[in-house]
Parts: sequence; C-alpha cells; structure tokens
Amino acid sequence: MKRFFSAVLLITLVAMPVLTLAQKPGRPGVLQLQSPQNPRLGFVIHGGAGVITRGSLTPEEEAEYRKKLEEAVLAGYAALKAGKTGLDAIEIAIRILEDSPLFNAGKGAVFTADGKNELDAAIMDGKSLNAGAVAGLHHIKNPITLARAVMEKSPHVMMIGEGAEKFAKEQNMDFVPESYFFTQRRWDSLQKIIKQEKENEKNKKSSSFEGVPGSLRELPSNKFGTVGAVALDKDGNLAAGTSTGGMTYKKYGRVGDVPVIGAGTYADNSTCAVSATGWGEFFIRLGVARDISALMEYRALPIQQAVDLVIQQKLQKAGGDGGVIAIDKFGNIGISFNSEGMYRAYIDKDGKAVVEIYKD
Ligand code: ASP
Repeated sequence: MKRFFSAVLLITLVAMPVLTLAQKPGRPGVLQLQSPQNPRLGFVIHGGAGVITRGSLTPEEEAEYRKKLEEAVLAGYAALKAGKTGLDAIEIAIRILEDSPLFNAGKGAVFTADGKNELDAAIMDGKSLNAGAVAGLHHIKNPITLARAVMEKSPHVMMIGEGAEKFAKEQNMDFVPESYFFTQRRWDSLQKIIKQEKENEKNKKSSSFEGVPGSLRELPSNKFGTVGAVALDKDGNLAAGTSTGGMTYKKYGRVGDVPVIGAGTYADNSTCAVSATGWGEFFIRLGVARDISALMEYRALPIQQAVDLVIQQKLQKAGGDGGVIAIDKFGNIGISFNSEGMYRAYIDKDGKAVVEIYKD
C-alpha cells in the first residue's frame, strides 16, 4: 500500500510540471493542445494604406518600397529569433521605417495645414496592458522610442507636445531640427491640397478635408503612409506599435488615432495585437483596434474574421478608410483594408518575408 502511494506521488510530481507547461502560452509543441496551430514567432508590419493602385507607382518606386519593407520586417524578425521581446522587434522595425523618407513617420512625415510636421506614436505591451503614447512632436527623430520610454520610464500613458519633448530630453532621446523632416514630395502634396482648398472656396464647395465630395481621399497624392508593427515573441507575448506624421493638411494640434490606445494601437495577450492606418478620426470614433480585440474576447471570432468585420463592415459603413494588421497569441495573422492598397509585410509559416502592396 505504502509503495502504491509512493508511486502515485512520484507520478504526480513528474506530471505536474508537464501539465503546467501545457497551460502556458508560447511553449512550442505543448500548445498544440490549445490551438489547431503550433504557436510560432510572428511579425507583421505596415507602411500605410491609401490610394495605391497598380500603375500609381513606377517600377523603381515599387522596388524601393518593397526593399524597405523587407528590410524592416526581417530586422524585427531577426530580433525575435535572437530571443528579444516583441517590443524590441517593433521598435527596431519601426525605427527603420521612421528613418526612411518613403513613409509618413519620422523623416518623410506629412505636413500640417500651416506647413509643420507633428508626429504621433504609440506602443503597447500585451502582457501587462501597459502602453506609451506621444503626440504633437516636432523634434524627435524616432517617436516610437519616446513612446516606449513613456511606457517604461514614466508613470503615464500619453504625453504631448512640449512636455513630451522635455521628457525626451531627460531620457536622452535623439533630437533633430524641424528641417530634418522636410521632403519635397510631402511638401508638394500639401501645396496640391492648399490649391484645391482655394478652388473649393472660390467655387463655394465644402472643404475637401471634411470628407465630402471632392474629398481628400480622391487626391492621388494622398497615400497615408503611417507605419506600424505587431509581434508575437518566444514567450507568447503580443505587442503592437504605430508611428505617424498624421494626415496632410491636418490642423495644428490635431491628434490622430495612432497614439489613442484602442483606436490605432492595441495589444492584449489574451486576444491579439493590432496596428492601424487610415483616416484617424474614424478609427478613434469606432475604437477600431480595441473593437477587434473585443470581438475575439467576447465572441471568440478568429482573427481574420474580427479584422474584416471591423474594417470591411463597420469602418466601411461609417465612411472611413484604411486598414489594420493584427496577430493573435498563436501567431495567426489578420490583415484587412478597404482602401486601394496597403504597404505590408509579414513572416510566413516557413520564416520567409512576404511583401505586399496592392489589393490583389
Ligand atoms: N492614421 C493616421 C492619422 O490619422 C494617418 C495614417 O494612417 O496615415 O493620423
């Protein structure tokens, strides 16, 4: 009898850690019990959604975008493979896109109506639900890094304008003069819109910027171009980050969806990580990123269905446009946009980078 109890005790002691492991996310092999799919590292990025049709980019331009997106997605994925966290991977990839003049974030940010660049960014940790966001920056080279500092080194979630830049100084962030953000292409886009606005005024038509006929969306120069990333790391943690210059011709002090947690950026280990791009006002009103997470949490929708429901139905019906990238805790990817195109890249099941731009 005594021997029997010793055997039961032994079996229990051996079995317990195995059972505990089975409940922990992010353990390869064991998670097979919890999902039809093996968990894996996951990394997806976007470089903005908008009027991007075949033929709107020259072959050279398209090649440049593809190259930069591939560089960023591979850099983030390499960080994950080296055992870094999802937050690290996101910061690494977004910094690459912020430093490129191709995208509307950091260098290459669009201009406000009064000819300035005002940058917003956010990052969120799905494990702790901690988040950091910054808005209305004029001198910070890499807003994503400042957003992360707000999350990790301040007791706050969001900091704006001068105060955020003061904090950045204390954190030894890289500062640049405002002229650093200038690109001819973005300046020309602003001039085009100003010209159209003047014409509208002359013809007593409503402002293009308010989204009525003759809308901003119809200007081919208006490719949104915000950047973002979502990641699943080796510990099963999800994270999301987004960075933007906002929208061309925005008014001074306008803050978009990107730094609004739950609108343009959201991550929760129990559901998904989301980064959005598009007409920010709509994403704020609909709480797009959090809505996607809620559909997974309360209605147990698979990730692709959740992103499609919010983008193709709710956003579409509301009259907004744009898209999202998302990833769930098993590494399933969800991508949806109702614009003509969206710059995007992800790591596929075989660990290869896939870069896509157009709808088809
Ligand atoms: N969502 C951004 C904003 O409204 C713009 C973009 O995605 O390009 O600020």
